[in-house]
Amino acid sequence: MNATKRLYYDDSHLTNFQARVLAVTEIKDKGFAVTLDETAFYPMGGGQPSDTGTLECASGTARVVECVDAGEAGVQHVVEGELLQAGEEVTGRIDWSRRFEHIQQHTAQHILSQAFIKLYEAETHGFRIMKRWSEIDVRLDNPSDERIREAIEMANKIVWENRPIRVRHVSAEEAAHLPLRKTPTREGELRIVEIEGYDTNACGGTHARATGEIGMILVRSWERAKGMTRIEFVAGGRALKDYEAANETARRVAALFSVGRDEVEQASLRLIEEGKELARRLRALESTFADSEAETLTGQAMLGRDGLRIVARTFDYRDHEGLKQLAHKLIQRPRTIALLGSTDGDDAARLVFARSPDVSEDMNLLMREACQSLDGRGGGRPDMAQGGGQADSTTLTHILERIAGRFTAN
Ligand SMILES: [Zn+2]
Repeated sequence: MNATKRLYYDDSHLTNFQARVLAVTEIKDKGFAVTLDETAFYPMGGGQPSDTGTLECASGTARVVECVDAGEAGVQHVVEGELLQAGEEVTGRIDWSRRFEHIQQHTAQHILSQAFIKLYEAETHGFRIMKRWSEIDVRLDNPSDERIREAIEMANKIVWENRPIRVRHVSAEEAAHLPLRKTPTREGELRIVEIEGYDTNACGGTHARATGEIGMILVRSWERAKGMTRIEFVAGGRALKDYEAANETARRVAALFSVGRDEVEQASLRLIEEGKELARRLRALESTFADSEAETLTGQAMLGRDGLRIVARTFDYRDHEGLKQLAHKLIQRPRTIALLGSTDGDDAARLVFARSPDVSEDMNLLMREACQSLDGRGGGRPDMAQGGGQADSTTLTHILERIAGRFTAN
């Protein structure tokens, strides 16, 4: 015999009830928990979070922050506030908006899971109601937007047909003759939830009275996970909130482009294309500029031993491509070593070292050494290497001068 009569089994829309406190116990890390002779509070279970609400007695109100299913020992209501006494009469009130939100997600899961079976014989193996959306793991091979859209269409058709949902208790023998969606894991009497003419399943959760209460089911996204297809969905009030958030984002982005909400994709594609075209033109300009810059830098190069010419220079805001292009131009000249660096405002440093074919020094080794001083990483070939790390312009200049010094010293 279960210590607590679970009123939500018979009426998932019951919000107020009278009960007697059977016991008050302390639960490790949670505080005090109240066990009642009967309750409408749904404890956490089956992927559905627990109810919250209040327990009122003559002397005050205790807030129910969580409910735990202790099996035969009943439902434990973890409370804050007024401390209740065993034997006291209380009025329980559950937070209906939270419960109803969970009813919508949970009942939507029954409908969606059955749609995947009817269409693709794909069973559901996991379900979780999370803070803003829910997830089901479906054994659906070859998932695609199209296949998932078909399941959603079927599910919403069932919602809008407003089919009655009935709960009854049957023996294991009777259950064996029912077309249950999932084989029950429990033994003995089973609670059967039936969506008329559509889905029959054993479940201890809270459900809508008719499918119309769910309003609408939407898929946010899906992905392959652990050999299954994980589908993120929202139903009812959550679907509305999710639409409002997505619409708000789309409208804000559209305003940035000064276009309508439905033209955002085209406007974004145009911007990306323009960006690519600008990058192409910039590279062409940089190439032309690098020719004359290489000329100037070669003229200012430090002269080293054995006729070496060393160009050590720190720039602002140049990427690796820009530095490499300049290095290539420089090492077309004989006996040249290019030690080029650049820093950004946030002290992100980039380096490119290169040498002409008639020089034997290993740029890869030099780069690794330089990157150690920058707390960064780098490498490459003996004739050209690149790397990066953290340094401001002055520090980077010192590092490059120190390396250059090795070739100019006698
Ligand atoms: Zn259920």
